[in-house]
Amino acid sequence: PRPVIANPQVTRHIMKAFNLRAAKKLGQNFLVDAGIVQGIVDAAEAGPGDRILEIGPGIGTLTQGLAESGAEVTAVELDKKLPAVLAETLAGYDNVTIVPGDILKVNIRELMGDQPFKVAANLPYYITTPILMALLEQHLPISVLVTMVQKEVALRMVAKPGSKIYGALSVAVQYYTRPHIAFDVPPRSFIPAPEVDSVVIVCDVREKPAVAVKSEKLFFRVVKAAFGQRRKTMSNAMKGAGFVPEQIAGAFEKCGLDSTRRGETFSMEEFGILADALTELA
Ligand code: SAM
Repeated sequence: PRPVIANPQVTRHIMKAFNLRAAKKLGQNFLVDAGIVQGIVDAAEAGPGDRILEIGPGIGTLTQGLAESGAEVTAVELDKKLPAVLAETLAGYDNVTIVPGDILKVNIRELMGDQPFKVAANLPYYITTPILMALLEQHLPISVLVTMVQKEVALRMVAKPGSKIYGALSVAVQYYTRPHIAFDVPPRSFIPAPEVDSVVIVCDVREKPAVAVKSEKLFFRVVKAAFGQRRKTMSNAMKGAGFVPEQIAGAFEKCGLDSTRRGETFSMEEFGILADALTELA
C-alpha cells in the first residue's frame, strides 16, 4: 500500500526531500487531513468511469484520493517544480496525467475533449473567481465542480437577492450551477495554515442556464454594471453598462421593472428580463 500523502508527517517529509517551500504567491496550502480529501472525493462522487480535471495538484494530496477512487485524473499545475515531485509521489498510478501549465491559459476543451467531466480542486485562493468564471463561461461539458474555496467567497457564491453579499459572483455561479456548501474546513487542515476559513462547495452544473436570455454577453454586462455601482439606482447603474438614457428608459418601460430599485434587489429572472429588453434596444 502507498503512503497517504494527506498527513502532516508525510507532507513535511516530501517537502523536505524535494527542498520545497510553500509558495504564497501561488496560493500553496497543502491539505494534510485525509478525512477532508475523502470528503472531496465523496462530494464529487468520484469513481471508475469518471474523468476528473484537477486544478493545482500541488504535491498530489487530493490527486491521490481521486486516483484511489478509480477515476481518470488530469491535473494542471502551474508550479514548474512540482511535476517532478508528482512523478514520484504518484508513481504507480496509471490513471493520473499531470499537465504542466496555467489553468487560465490551458485549452481545457482540447485537453478534456467533448465527453462530460468533473472538476475537483483545492483552489489557489488568489485566483478563485477568475478560475471559476473561466470554467463556467466556456460552456464546457462539466457535470459538477467540487472545490475548496475561502468561506467568505463560498457565502457570496450561494447568496440570494437582498442579502448584503449578493453580487455579480452570486448571479454568475447560480446562472450556470446549483451551488451548495458541503462542509467547513479549518485552517489546521493545511500546511501552511491559511489565515482564512475554508469550505468545500459543490456546484452542480445546470443542463441549461437558470434563465434563458437573448444575449449572455449583454446579460453579464448588465449584472456587472448593476453591482459595480452598488449605491446607485438601476437606471443610473445601467449608464455604466454603456447604454444611453433613452435606451435605459425605453427598456424599463418595456419590461415593467422599477428603475429606481437597486441592483442588489434584482433576482436572476429580473436581470434576464431587463437584459432582454436592453438587447432589443441596443
Ligand atoms: N491540491 C493540493 C492540495 O490540496 O494539497 C494543492 C492545493 S494549493 C491550495 C493550490 C495549487 O494550485 C498549488 O499547487 C499551486 O501551485 C497551484 N496553482 C496556482 N496557480 C495555478 C494556476 N494558475 N494554474 C494551475 N495551478 C495553479
